[in-house]
Amino acid sequence: MTDERFEPPNAFESPRFAQLSTFMRLPHTRNPAGLDAAILGIPFDGGVSFRPGARFGPKEVRNHSLLIRPYNPVLRTSPFARLRVADCGDVDTNPMDILDTYGRIEAAVGGILEAGAIPACVGGDHSISLPILRAVARRHGPVALVHFDSHQDMWEQYFGNRYFHGTPFRRALEEGLYLPAATVQFGIRGPVYGESDFEFGEAHHVTVVRAEEIHRDGIPAALTRLDRVRGRKVYVSFDIDSVDPAFAPGTGTPEVGGLSSAQTLALLRGLAGLEIVAFDIVEVSPPYDVSGLTAMLAANVLFELLSLISLDRR
Ligand code: MN
Ligand code: MN
Repeated sequence: MTDERFEPPNAFESPRFAQLSTFMRLPHTRNPAGLDAAILGIPFDGGVSFRPGARFGPKEVRNHSLLIRPYNPVLRTSPFARLRVADCGDVDTNPMDILDTYGRIEAAVGGILEAGAIPACVGGDHSISLPILRAVARRHGPVALVHFDSHQDMWEQYFGNRYFHGTPFRRALEEGLYLPAATVQFGIRGPVYGESDFEFGEAHHVTVVRAEEIHRDGIPAALTRLDRVRGRKVYVSFDIDSVDPAFAPGTGTPEVGGLSSAQTLALLRGLAGLEIVAFDIVEVSPPYDVSGLTAMLAANVLFELLSLISLDRR
């Protein structure tokens, strides 16, 4: 370990753009022992159905996390003073094989959980949430789920394949990894194949807060829907395409009419008080990004989620 304090170096001694890029300029270690939270890159986009590129997500989110300063003045917390957090590098995914990759992800996330740390995963496309949830459920049992996305990702299959970025929450539900009645999906929108696309979630009592509803009724009304999540261990899955492509263009399946970056931050901060046991940030595709807008937002989402965890551990 290069830094026992697990904090970013002082920006008045080492400029933010110097040294090797890690998440938030935190120390790098492959060993999660002694950490409260372990940031793990999962560079895999073998599950995308449209634009590829999310395999480069972790590297760009690292690059665009350099500017983030250590104090969160809205949540009033210094996450790196309260938590020991490090960049645990990337999972060595298999770009040729999604099922082999799933095994590698589950093993890496399982190792972090066994060490007593919270996995903070940065993808990668959304297919990676399934093996993460397998590891999380093995440790914690079925969890409540807060899912930001423009898509429910509950389709049955695509071209005969049951594992891709449009199915993780159907497979995870079938495997009993999360509690559908304690699940809230924020930001759902965009054209689908038909009304029947929503039937699976409805049949399992998943709560959907559509983007149109958030725009019409505001953030406080949306946050009241978290009542079914409170008091449980929570997994947060953040698909960057929940955000409008005007704010987050670098993603695989963009949908217009989404959340602004300000709405996103407000919703995230509304998760204060939840017991977040693991999270992912997915679908950042740098080749489609503009000036790093999307990776920069993802880095800020990462900071907010770590801030929330530091509140829980206060
Ligand atoms: Mn998704
Ligand atoms: Mn999506």
